[in-house]
Order: sequence, then structure tokens, then C-alpha cells
Amino acid sequence: MIRITRPRLPSELETALLKLTDELAGTPVPERRKHVNRMWKRETFRRDVYTPVREALEGMTPGYDCCMYCGDHLADTIDHLVPKAVCALRTFYWPNLLLACSPCNSRYKGDQHEGDGLLGSLLVDPTRENPFDHLTLWLDSGVYRPVEGSSKGEWTIKVCGLNEGKRSRVRAAAWVKIGGHLRAWDRARSERNEKDMRFAVYCIRDQPFADVYYAALHHVDAGDAQNIFAETNPDVLALLRDDQLREALLA
Ligand SMILES: [Zn+2]
Repeated sequence: MIRITRPRLPSELETALLKLTDELAGTPVPERRKHVNRMWKRETFRRDVYTPVREALEGMTPGYDCCMYCGDHLADTIDHLVPKAVCALRTFYWPNLLLACSPCNSRYKGDQHEGDGLLGSLLVDPTRENPFDHLTLWLDSGVYRPVEGSSKGEWTIKVCGLNEGKRSRVRAAAWVKIGGHLRAWDRARSERNEKDMRFAVYCIRDQPFADVYYAALHHVDAGDAQNIFAETNPDVLALLRDDQLREALLA
């Protein structure tokens, strides 16, 4: 999970969402849950609102439509951070909408919700807070662990199934590949081969789990290197600190 910036929507889309919320607010409370499901399936909503909102969410993520929870690519659903079954009035509320893959949205998270004791969710919202304040990605194993004492980190890992199935293994494999691409970039630089340098950066940014290289850059900055990179070769660590490479990766 990585930090994502949420822009404002075009005003006509913002207005369309507000109108839908108004319609829902005018519906008697006992009927809201059923009505919101009907509204969500409405053909005009799918065409005029759902599709452009999804496109706006896709534009916010690095790589190809990264799931805002697990970081895998080709996410294709809009998820509600606070589920519509829990708070129908947040169904059409832009800050409550995130791009998610089907496993995160349906298989793991579904309608599960834990409040944070205020009006928010215990689930980390990557568009409002830095996930690395709550989550640590152990690169060699690909396993997410909560930052010590973070109940948000603990809940997020559990509710999104971040370590379920093959997810950790795929992240660990991605990290091995990234190490190879970092070295390839360094070789190309010493040969002044700009084409191969660009290709190495492309390969890193193109791999399915964008959160892996973001986590690597973050943990180096945060001084976590001793633990997180215990099995990582020092040359790879040095490259993660290389200003020229970082600039290319984060461009
Ligand atoms: Zn996901």
C-alpha cells in the first residue's frame, strides 16, 4: 500500500455525485440500503458517473491501475472505504471511493468495517495518510507487518488479506527482479547507455506490485535498512539511495 494523492474531480462529476447523495438523503432511512443498491446499478449512473469516477481513480495510481490496497495491477472495481452497507450516505462521497482489485473488494474486505473511535475507519486510507506509518513491507519475504502498536496496520492487513494466498510470494519475487533491474540500470549508466537505463526503469515501474519498489525507497529513507534489508546485497541498497535513479523511478 502506498501514498496516493487524491485530486478534485471535474465540477460536473462532483455535482453529479452530490445530486445522488441528495437523492439518498431524501430517502427514508429504513429504505436507504435497498435504494442505494438500486442506484448503484442504474444504467445512467454506470455510464455517466461510475465510469468517469473509475477513470479518475485509475489516473491516481502508478503503473497499470494499481489496487489502492494491495498494490497489484489491473484493479477494476470502485470500493467504498466505509462500505455502503455500513453508511449508505457515503456511497457517492468522492473521498470514500478507492480503486480496488476484485479479491480486495469482494473476497477479503466485503462489508467488513471497524471504526477508529471517531467517525473514520480503522482501515488505512492511502489517499489521506501515509500507509508506511502503519505498515512495513518486509521485502525479502514479501510479508506486510503492522508498525508496532498500530491497530490500523493490523486491521488493514487482516481485512484486505494483504498476506493471503500467493500475495507475499509474488511480492518477494518482484523484489528479486527489481534488484536485477537496479543492477542493469547501474551497468547501463557506467556504459552511458541511456536507452538501457530507461528500459531498466520501465521494467521496475511496470512490474505488477508498485508497492514493492515504493516500499524499498521508503524503508531506505526511514533508516530501516538494517532489518528490512537484512538479506539484501549492499550494492542494491546503495542504488536505492542513488539520487539519479530515484528521480527516474519517481518521475
Ligand atoms: Zn487489491
